[in-house]
Amino acid sequence: MPRKKKTAEPLVLEGIGVSPGVVTGHAYLVSLETLPISGASIAEDQVEHEICRLEDALVETRRQIRGIQKDLAGRAGTGGASVLDAHLLVLDDRAFIEEIILEIRGKLTNAENALRDVSEQYGKVLFSVRDDYLRERVADIKDVSRRLIRNLMGGADSTMAGLTRKHIIVAQDLPPSITATLRRDSVLGFATDLGSPTSHTAVMARALEIPAIVGLRDVSQRARMGDEILIDGNKGILIIHPTARQLDRYGKVADSRRMIERGLESLRDERAETRDGRRIVLSANVGNLDEIAAVKEHGAEGVGLFRSEYAFIARDKLLNEEEQTELYTQLASALAPAPVIIRTLDIGGDKLLAHDGFTQEANPFLGCRSIRLSLLYPEHFKVQLRAILRASARKNLKIMYPMIGNLGEVARANELLAECKAELTRERTPFHADIEVGAMIEIPSAALTANMIAEHVKFFSLGTNDLVQYTLAVDRVNERVAYLYEPTHPAVLELIRRTIEAGHRHKLWVGLCGEMAADPMLTMLLLGMGVDELSVAPAAVPIVKDAVRRVTYSEAQELARIALTCRSGVEVLAHCRRLIKKVAPELLELN
Ligand code: PEP
Ligand code: MG
Repeated sequence: MPRKKKTAEPLVLEGIGVSPGVVTGHAYLVSLETLPISGASIAEDQVEHEICRLEDALVETRRQIRGIQKDLAGRAGTGGASVLDAHLLVLDDRAFIEEIILEIRGKLTNAENALRDVSEQYGKVLFSVRDDYLRERVADIKDVSRRLIRNLMGGADSTMAGLTRKHIIVAQDLPPSITATLRRDSVLGFATDLGSPTSHTAVMARALEIPAIVGLRDVSQRARMGDEILIDGNKGILIIHPTARQLDRYGKVADSRRMIERGLESLRDERAETRDGRRIVLSANVGNLDEIAAVKEHGAEGVGLFRSEYAFIARDKLLNEEEQTELYTQLASALAPAPVIIRTLDIGGDKLLAHDGFTQEANPFLGCRSIRLSLLYPEHFKVQLRAILRASARKNLKIMYPMIGNLGEVARANELLAECKAELTRERTPFHADIEVGAMIEIPSAALTANMIAEHVKFFSLGTNDLVQYTLAVDRVNERVAYLYEPTHPAVLELIRRTIEAGHRHKLWVGLCGEMAADPMLTMLLLGMGVDELSVAPAAVPIVKDAVRRVTYSEAQELARIALTCRSGVEVLAHCRRLIKKVAPELLELN
């Protein structure tokens, strides 16, 4: 890859701050694209040299994969070390390697080029075979080849295998398949060209409590491996080669934010209750077991959203019933008696398993995602339902169906749940027979028919990340339309209002677990609209709790009343800002 001339001049880039905090560190560039392969032709006397390079790269790649396996095996909740076995098998496949050597010799081409060509040929042949197992091998070959090519070429990493010290990760994009395997102790921050506040990269950054900026457009082209970088995740400012003055100024900002945050931590054991006694439940959104400590540390009252798909993405496969039962049991036990809401698989959209051919669609957010996929493959869905039931003996688990679009889906999911209960009863396996079931309301059709859906569930949880995208026709991960992504748009508020009203009419509790719940500017509005629960990233619990405790319910209700008459999202925000400025001005600074 051509290197740009190094410049020590500071370069300020502006993006969308999606996870708060100021941090300075060295850049670690991650590239997911297929690398351009230059200088493909070689002279005859270079053939042996190219073969040696290939063999060296095979050794190095094997070493990296074993390292990742070892690392994954030692981590609770992610497991998945065995997933990479298939990659090792490819590296040990002599027929594959000999084919590459033949290509180098026959076509007088370099190792990278030969490798790419052979892996593409293999891919085509295997993909044409109607056999799921062989089709899955295509992805393995592609992954391993990409890693091998990186090792042959040096430069940006596609795997983070070389990430041994803390760095700021810079990439064009970071799909959940990469972020799901990241460790907090190796990453200082994220900076990406693409993305938006509700993309799963952003959600993951907040869960890891790592400052992050997305939508920087071309940071991955401008930064180089090892460059010093400063990021302010609150303001969305990134500086490459910051000056001493800039470092000093941002250092002070970080210090003052830390002081406010430390003050908020003292609220850990307090309730989320307004000054005049209206209490709501404040829960945490969690993606894996590693985050449980943070749930307790920040004083959440339980888990309002366990994104069960993250465990699948981290291991890049569908987990079997035993693996899932183990995962959910650990989760339930770690938090009991506090409630834990397990959302059934929400694969699709921007959360894909690298190997699942069935989710490769032109419009994944409008496609066979989430509950639709679960209902299409009831045998897999039942595995998950059985596992949740088997882990429910402590009676603190609840089940939540994502992406409900109509009554039929809830009814069918409940039917399958009833089948699972009947099976477990026959097998004499204990479970919580009255386990509560809820529906995520994140599609306008569900919000508009919440009255009907309410008859089939015990609670609603508003998934506003998707509700906003589907109501406003704004892709939640596309930074080019991020300016249109308005959680306070009157249409969105109206759907939230209807859902809460329908839920309450049917004596359901209504929560909200989208990212807007974590914005203290909006906490008072949602409170005033009548939500019973808010579920946010663990680190956001203290600030949201403070916002609840600083206001009276009647002030919040008055804000909601006015907001529902506003003609634009901006107008609504202005009213929210006015109230928070009056009752808790320093929270504005933190935000
Ligand atoms: C949502 O859509 O608001 C939500 C919480 O679910 P996810 O972000 O995982 O789609
Ligand atoms: Mg959603």
